[in-house]
Amino acid sequence: MENPKTHQQKPAYGMASNCAFMVRRAWRDAKSVLVVCVGLIICAVAASLLELFVTPMILAAVERGASPGELAALIARFALGLALVHSLWAYLRANTLFGRVQVRRTLSVEHNLLECRTAYPHIEDPDYLQRLAKSGRTLSTNRDASEAVWDTMTGLVTNLVSFAIYLLLLSRAEPGIALLTAALAAVGYFAGERIRSWRYLHREEEGRLHRMSDRIVYQSQSPELAKDVRIFGLGPWLLQLYDKYTQLFFDFCAKAQRRYLWADLLDVGLALARNGAAYGWLIALALRGELSPARFVLYFSAVGGFAQWVTGIFQNLGTLHRQSLELSTLREFMAAPEPFRFEDGAPLDVKPGHLYAIELRDVSYRYPGADHDALSHVNLAIRPGEKLAVVGKNGAGKTTLIKLMCGLLDPTQGSVLLDGEDIRQYNRRDYYRLFSAVFQQFAPLPGTVAENVAQGEDVELARMWDCLDKAGVAEAVRELPQGENTHLGRQLYLDGVELSGGQMQKLMLARALYKNGPIVVLDEPTAALDPIAESKLYQKYHELTQNSTSVYISHRLASTRFCDRVLLVEDGGIAEEGTHDSLLERGGRYAYLFDIQRKYYADSADLKGVADHE
Ligand code: ADP
Repeated sequence: MENPKTHQQKPAYGMASNCAFMVRRAWRDAKSVLVVCVGLIICAVAASLLELFVTPMILAAVERGASPGELAALIARFALGLALVHSLWAYLRANTLFGRVQVRRTLSVEHNLLECRTAYPHIEDPDYLQRLAKSGRTLSTNRDASEAVWDTMTGLVTNLVSFAIYLLLLSRAEPGIALLTAALAAVGYFAGERIRSWRYLHREEEGRLHRMSDRIVYQSQSPELAKDVRIFGLGPWLLQLYDKYTQLFFDFCAKAQRRYLWADLLDVGLALARNGAAYGWLIALALRGELSPARFVLYFSAVGGFAQWVTGIFQNLGTLHRQSLELSTLREFMAAPEPFRFEDGAPLDVKPGHLYAIELRDVSYRYPGADHDALSHVNLAIRPGEKLAVVGKNGAGKTTLIKLMCGLLDPTQGSVLLDGEDIRQYNRRDYYRLFSAVFQQFAPLPGTVAENVAQGEDVELARMWDCLDKAGVAEAVRELPQGENTHLGRQLYLDGVELSGGQMQKLMLARALYKNGPIVVLDEPTAALDPIAESKLYQKYHELTQNSTSVYISHRLASTRFCDRVLLVEDGGIAEEGTHDSLLERGGRYAYLFDIQRKYYADSADLKGVADHE
């Protein structure tokens, strides 16, 4: 839902600040943009002045009794001047695009990098995701603020310079005309500005509607959902949802346009009053014989031009105001503080062979927007080298516990300590180097099997094969068409392969082993494995996690036997802890849950027998 607090927010950066920001960016990334803009302004002002003076000058020459030759020379000079400035303007205009795209592109790259590198809690924060989508739209096309603003600024400066020149001219004739026009112009602008700020103030709502329809398009095209779409006949529902959110977005735009229409009508009404008064004034002066015909024509055209500059200034300011609001959204997003310390945190050396202790001290965590804690007042000390198992029902808080340990989330209350030190002080990227993890969702990057295991192009082959072997997937990799050099993913590579869920899970385990972090975290690492592979993993667990502190999440209670300690997480807290046997002896919740599972799962001893047989 819309957040009423952000709904009311004023932009953090004003119009002047945003223009200065864009000029600084162009100065750094593509100076040609500024040169072209200045050139365009000079050409446009010169052309308007030539057009303004051409008729009165010819008229004055006729009044003076100039010869046909002099008249022809005068007209030729004007024509040549106009041809020159128009050609130069057209040339500059044709060459304006490249620099502007370059400025937008560098901004876009920075925006994308921020998105990739942002602290993990942002990825789960709907408010952040909305701001991300909204600021991204400032950068998408040539028509978006980060590029279109150059036309607006060029137009505005052209209009302002011409306005000043015309103002000077008119004030010499009759200061009253200039004053009246300028006053009506100011009233129009400030009234219009109030009306136009509506869209910015409702930007969260707009972002939410956009995100909803984008999400539906994404889901309807996603290969992961393709099976469900067909089997469950989701097509009509997806279409309905798309229509619904598109309609809501159109309604939103119509509301905004209705407001802009009022602002435009106000501009038109004021322009009418302005021109009517000024023309009446000039005609009265001419009738009283206070203006020569040449001067009358000059001032008459000047008033027409003046009105055009004034309207232009209004329109430019209105557009610039909207674009500035968008640029402010972008800059606010780019300057938003990260919840973690990265480069400014204390460096953390990952010491080879060192066994780390992790402690959660009175830790609570509440997801953004949730009305209760996912974890509440958890105290847990994991000894160096300890093999800890975490079990519990779905939604109990196991994954949240792991995310807190791994530093992907920071506690809402309490602290996570590494060897007794609060991890918030460390460079978070250094901290991540401690962990070898297999999470429940995994996505291979476009590359070969070997690159995916080594997470890059530098692959230590012997180490990679050792890890593939330990993870139980070496044989399957050897059988692939190009062995470890086989590409993963058929959507990207014609010769790529799709591994089964279980093979992929093993490959991700091999990746974790290859990383060789001193803390191993396995979140349901057997979820996609067949019973034999699962049993083999249990048997190998000590080998896989030797020289490391390890945390193993499972929903299979029997699988925790090989761990030093078992935690039963329930309702966001640690309900019971001890060894598998001691918990069974206690006859509490763990024993109860184990008993239920025993009825459905084969006893692990049987599985061990099968695995030995294999
Ligand atoms: P488990 O791993 O034990 O299944 P989780 O740690 O994933 O449980 O979830 C614990 C609680 O936190 C659940 O109530 C779940 O709905 C909630 N939760 C998990 N992830 C999020 C999220 N990103 N935003 C809001 N609530 C979440």
